[in-house]
Amino acid sequence: MSATPLTLALCKGRILEQSLPLLEQAGIQTITPKDSRQLFLESNLPGLRLIIVRNVDMITYISHGAADLGIAGRDLLLEYEGDELYDPMGLGIAACRMMYAVPISEREAPRRPRVATKYPRSTQRYFSMRGLQVDLVPLYGSVELAPLLGLADHVVDLVDTGTTLRAHGLRPVGLIEEISARLVVNKAAMKLKYKAVRALMERLRQTIAEQQTTCK
Ligand code: AMP
Repeated sequence: MSATPLTLALCKGRILEQSLPLLEQAGIQTITPKDSRQLFLESNLPGLRLIIVRNVDMITYISHGAADLGIAGRDLLLEYEGDELYDPMGLGIAACRMMYAVPISEREAPRRPRVATKYPRSTQRYFSMRGLQVDLVPLYGSVELAPLLGLADHVVDLVDTGTTLRAHGLRPVGLIEEISARLVVNKAAMKLKYKAVRALMERLRQTIAEQQTTCK
């Protein structure tokens, strides 16, 4: 009997860089050569293959079942409005914060600022909860450029060290959400491939528990 085929999606960038070592510690290695430009990576576990997708496409792949599960930043989940996903566990990697930031040089905030962001839902919620009115400027990337070019007054973006904000003359003024990577599972895959998904989750859970013990 062959193993249940399982497709695990990883996002390019920070999440990929930090997921591969985590997977390796959980005994999951890619056997496709690392220098290959392939976006499908076969793993050493029978049936399990990895795919590499862009951040913005991640939730689409998993919610449509093209990938059974994936590793995604909580920022993406906060923007998702559907009902096709579970996010059963945090993975303790790619931690950062979603922050509201304004120009360092700003003397007085506009009455109704234009806020550039990749996260319109989280941003709108943040301002609505405070009874503040803003105009959202939705962008797919490089939001810190928007105030420099007059496209927006303020931004909401992910911040790790704060270097990117500072380099663009911005300073954080409000914490919107704590963010880190989570395991995301398609609900149908959880049902139809339950044993395989549980086995993978168990491997990750054990690895994270071991890491936490070692760090103590
Ligand atoms: P930093 O300059 O270290 O504050 O990093 C900020 C830049 O890295 C911004 O462009 C963020 O969108 C991106 N970034 C920071 N942390 C993460 C993360 N955990 N996941 C994805 N992107 C991140």
